[in-house]
Amino acid sequence: MGRIVVKFGGTSVATVERIRQAALHVKREVDAGNEVAVVVSAMSGKTNELVGWVNEASKLHDAREYDAVVASGEQVTAGLMAVVLSELGIPSRSFQGWQVPIKTDDAHGAARIVEIDPTELEKRFAEGVVPVITGFQGVAPSGRVTTLGRGGSDTSAVAVAAAVKADRCDIYTDVDGVYTTDPRITPKAKRLSKISFEEMLEMASLGAKVLMIRSVEMAMAHKVRLTVRSTFDDPNAPQIAPDGTPGVPGTIVCDEDEIMEKQIVSGVTLARAESKITLRDVKDRPGVAASIFGALADESIVVDMIVQNVSEDGSTTDITFTVPDAEHDKAVKALRAAGEAGKFEYAKIQSAKGGAKVSVVGVGMRNHAGVAASMFKALADKSINIQLITTSEIKTSVLIDDEYAELAVRALHTYYGLDNQDA
Ligand code: ADP
Ligand code: ASP
Ligand code: MG
Repeated sequence: MGRIVVKFGGTSVATVERIRQAALHVKREVDAGNEVAVVVSAMSGKTNELVGWVNEASKLHDAREYDAVVASGEQVTAGLMAVVLSELGIPSRSFQGWQVPIKTDDAHGAARIVEIDPTELEKRFAEGVVPVITGFQGVAPSGRVTTLGRGGSDTSAVAVAAAVKADRCDIYTDVDGVYTTDPRITPKAKRLSKISFEEMLEMASLGAKVLMIRSVEMAMAHKVRLTVRSTFDDPNAPQIAPDGTPGVPGTIVCDEDEIMEKQIVSGVTLARAESKITLRDVKDRPGVAASIFGALADESIVVDMIVQNVSEDGSTTDITFTVPDAEHDKAVKALRAAGEAGKFEYAKIQSAKGGAKVSVVGVGMRNHAGVAASMFKALADKSINIQLITTSEIKTSVLIDDEYAELAVRALHTYYGLDNQDA
């Protein structure tokens, strides 16, 4: 007997019928004698619809009201899941963020979980009741509802698992694990039986939306055993791990030490809708980068890749960086305003939306030279032009034209020997 937190994503709870299918996985775990808490997302498409409505009501809406509207999707599925579980003979009760409570900061729309009081959940476990908790939302110090940012239910689930000291947190989704690349891009993607927290963190930050970044950070910090598996697997099938032993079918996200065979490259990721912004002929002096990126940080704009050229005559330089397309207009406006305020001098701003960032990730890169070079070669062989490059200990990323994005992913996937030969 153990304690398990299970989370169902949007596609897994898209209809009442699917909620029933998901509930059978909960029933299997309860029947096996486990204490189970459930975290649910909104039905797929619901959150997009709610966000659309708020934007339609007003582009410049109050973030507190955005949260009031957008958090409602999860309330529906939590209630429905509790109803369905009860009908299956499993006593169950739904909880919204404030009822647990899941305490967050007051950054509406992108709140961070500060604390989860486990008392109420422990009480339900003791009574043999399965609590079903709304993902994606919490409560601010002001008492108002907050949301955690898109994909946030993963983070809710891991945070609940940490708070109740669960033995496992199972993320049920529409794929049966974490793959070497998005299986929608290539059928040759291979499921990984294990992936390290570090690699998963990089993959999530670089575009693999199978897990929200913060959920991985939190699992790593609190040592939560995290698995990714499919809701659409037969709930009554024997529970066999990919290595053939009894366990969770799917992918385990774990410490690097648990992984015997370390791949040089374990995954390839793609992030689309990246804007490239260049400031030309920036007057080069100490503090200029701090002024430029300070102006963006003041607007809470997250900058990703940054390149600064060496100035030929020591007086001016070009600085290029990327931001998500959604932040492009805000970023350009902030730069112009800071320039006009005399914070730095430049000749002109050039920008383009719609770039694609393709990355290769692997802990084995730490000890292997030449991964970046081989990546550039593989792309050159397909005549794909590289616009920007960034590297870190376990990843190399390039910005390329979106037209070649999927070709690049497939080429790199093959180049690093990741293709599933049976596909
Ligand atoms: P949920 O609604 O269950 O949270 P998401 O849509 O957020 O599901 O995440 C699952 C999706 O992530 C998959 O359908 C898949 O297309 C995508 N994905 C991207 N990269 C990967 C990867 N490396 N492995 C598995 N899935 C991936
Ligand atoms: N429903 C929210 C979203 O679509 C949270 C989640 O599904 O994780 O972003
Ligand atoms: Mg998700």
